[in-house]
Amino acid sequence: AKKAHKNTLRFYQAELGRETQHRLTLESDLRQALALGQFALHYQPIIALDSGQVVGLEALIRWDHPERGLVSPEEFIALSEENGLIVPIGEWVLATALEDLATLRRMEGMAGLHMAVNISSRQLLEEDFMGMVERELRASGLPGSALQLELTERLFLEEYIHTRRLLADLASRGVNLVIDDFGTGYSALSYLRRLNVHALKVDREFVRDIDRDEDDALLTRAIVSLAHDLQIQVVAEGVEEKQQLDYLKALGCEMAQGYLLARPMPLADLRVYLESRDDH
Ligand code: C2E
Ligand code: CA
Ligand code: CA
Ligand code: CA
Repeated sequence: AKKAHKNTLRFYQAELGRETQHRLTLESDLRQALALGQFALHYQPIIALDSGQVVGLEALIRWDHPERGLVSPEEFIALSEENGLIVPIGEWVLATALEDLATLRRMEGMAGLHMAVNISSRQLLEEDFMGMVERELRASGLPGSALQLELTERLFLEEYIHTRRLLADLASRGVNLVIDDFGTGYSALSYLRRLNVHALKVDREFVRDIDRDEDDALLTRAIVSLAHDLQIQVVAEGVEEKQQLDYLKALGCEMAQGYLLARPMPLADLRVYLESRDDH
């Protein structure tokens, strides 16, 4: 039994070694990716639900790895946040997205298009973040209003993941939970007001089952009504089915994004897509 145990341990060590190795390789590859021009941006159209027009784009990064092919941001954004590479990568994303937006805005009927760019909290912590944004705006010749920064709620609810398990365990033991001072301490509400938030994105977790799952529908309805009370617009993401779209329209969502409407695509394809539409 002792021997088996030892073997298991060795197996785990080997596994751990492989994982660390994989991570280190990925990290050193990531360090070179920017210099070697291996990153690209795909753009996903954001559609206004009343007019059906394209009102904006979300920039989504892709890594074209020489051996591994297209690597999803899910795989390298977290790593680049940990090692700080997200700062130069994020700057490249912003510069490229704004440059491409300036090009697209010169197309007929596209002068009002906005660009939404994902920003990691790690980037916001950089002292020069504001200076960097201003530099890139100036370089592109675009007004600030052309740009939207997408920040995750995690930034405000950092503790949530850790406390969720604890609260669930308590609840399963029959302990009732009461939220005290609701609306004041709940950062999700106070930061919405304080930060002059322009729009909220309803996560695709909610959108997925919106026409089937009563909780998801209820929550989305509450989010939309809260947002509208605060004069904040609502964008639904991950819309894949017509029923979802109809439901979101009925709830009063202003905008939507998703495979049903348009997939993220490279600039050249996007130009063809925009030209083929009747938006202008
Ligand atoms: P996100 O900001 O929530 O972006 C939406 C994700 O949903 C994108 O995945 C998009 O391709 C995908 N998506 C769009 N429509 C649909 C749909 O109808 N169904 C489904 N199943 N998915 C849909 P992607 O491109 O793989 O990006 C994943 C995440 O990586 C993003 O989630 C964002 O958090 C992060 N990310 C992407 N680009 C950047 C970037 O330039 N900077 C930073 N900091 N993060 C980025
Ligand atoms: Ca986003
Ligand atoms: Ca999301
Ligand atoms: Ca659900």
